[in-house]
Formats: sequence, structure tokens, C-alpha cells
Amino acid sequence: MPNTTKKWIYSLVDLLFPRLCCACGERLAFGENFVCASCQLQLPLEVNHDWRYNRRRVIWSDHPQLVRMGALTRYERGNRASMIVRNLKFRRQYELGSWMGRIAVQRLKESGLFEDVDLLIPIPLSKRRLHSRGFNQAELIARGMAEELGIPVRTDVLKRIVARESQTHFAIQERLGNAENVFKLMSSDGLQGKHVMLVDDVMTTGTTMLGAIEVLEVIADVRISTFTWAWAYMPPPVHA
Ligand SMILES: [Zn+2]
Repeated sequence: MPNTTKKWIYSLVDLLFPRLCCACGERLAFGENFVCASCQLQLPLEVNHDWRYNRRRVIWSDHPQLVRMGALTRYERGNRASMIVRNLKFRRQYELGSWMGRIAVQRLKESGLFEDVDLLIPIPLSKRRLHSRGFNQAELIARGMAEELGIPVRTDVLKRIVARESQTHFAIQERLGNAENVFKLMSSDGLQGKHVMLVDDVMTTGTTMLGAIEVLEVIADVRISTFTWAWAYMPPPVHA
């Protein structure tokens, strides 16, 4: 089909069903998907990008199996990064999740964040939350990343459970001050000696991520890295 015809059809469809940018809400132009070119240029990028030694990593230095921690964007209320997450979670834009994962890998591949990572594990939702939302946004992002990286996504490893189901885990979580982020190791098959990357949409204090790390680090010789689409908070600098 000639390009002019395609554009004409696009204009007609766009008139009836306008496609909007997930970050600014303006109409998308022909050829743009999910996020307009202008918003892509102005994404609030996370700059604390020394993966091995960023402040979170320093604070969690009592987890020697933790290798790198990275995020693409900085989350602030109402900014472009947060609007994209909002569209993903509450407007059920499934394809957007995959786009977020792909763009993150494309933008950060050179940084070495994903180097020698063997597989991706999205942070699971509890059964109840999954049922009410209908999808796990972390998994959608992980699937997009996997496409770019050519590595598998494992959803059979971690399970998120309600606190009262496990006294041991409850104790850990209570110590961390959050009894809702309880994970259980369902399978460690094929994970020995591997470098796994936990994936989530937003990291605030990191309690959720830490809960998952603590469950995974019992696996022999496993190395763990984390990726989140956005960081909502960065701990203050640590002075030696
Ligand atoms: Zn936009």
C-alpha cells in the first residue's frame, strides 16, 4: 500500500479513535506508538547510573549476591515516567508494558546493566491482586526486555503470598517493616550459578525488591540484579 494511502487511512482512523501519548495525553503522530517523540526525548532519566555502586546497592551491601541495580527513569508525581506507569496499570495498555521493556533495554544496553544476565524474573503480584488487575505489569515489562535481550522470563520461581501463610517470611517482612511483601520460592530449577534479574515497574523504598532478593539468595551461587522502569526515591549519600 503506498505511504500516502496509509497516512490517509491513519488520519481517518485517528479521527474516529484518536491515539494519545501515554505521557502527555496529546495525539500521537503517524508512526508514533505509545509515547510521542517529544516525550521520549524528555523522559526524566535516572542519572544515578553507576550500577555496581549506586546508593541503593551500597545500603544493601550485606547482600553480597546482589550485583547491579538499575532504573531507566526517575518517578515523580505527575512526571512523564509516572504517567506512563499510570497508563500501564490503570488503563490496561498491555502493549505499553512491552514497549517500556524494549525501550529500557535499547537505552541502557551500552551501560552494561544487562551484561551476562541469564534470565528475568518479574516481581509477582499476589493472586488476589492479579485477579483484580487481570495482568502483572512487571511481567509485561519483563517480556519486552526479554525480546530485546533474547533471554527467558521465568514466572514459576517466585510467588507472592499473604503474610499469614508463612510465619518465617512474616518475621523477615515484619523486620523490614512491611508485612505485605512476602515471597515464596516455588522453584530453583536451573537457577544455580545463574545471574537473574528481578524486574518491577517502580521502586520506592525497595522493601518489595528486598523481599524477593532475600528469597532468591538462598540458591547456590546465584547472582541477582534488579531493574525497575522508575525509581521513586533515592536514599541519601552514604559517607564512609
Ligand atoms: Zn507526549
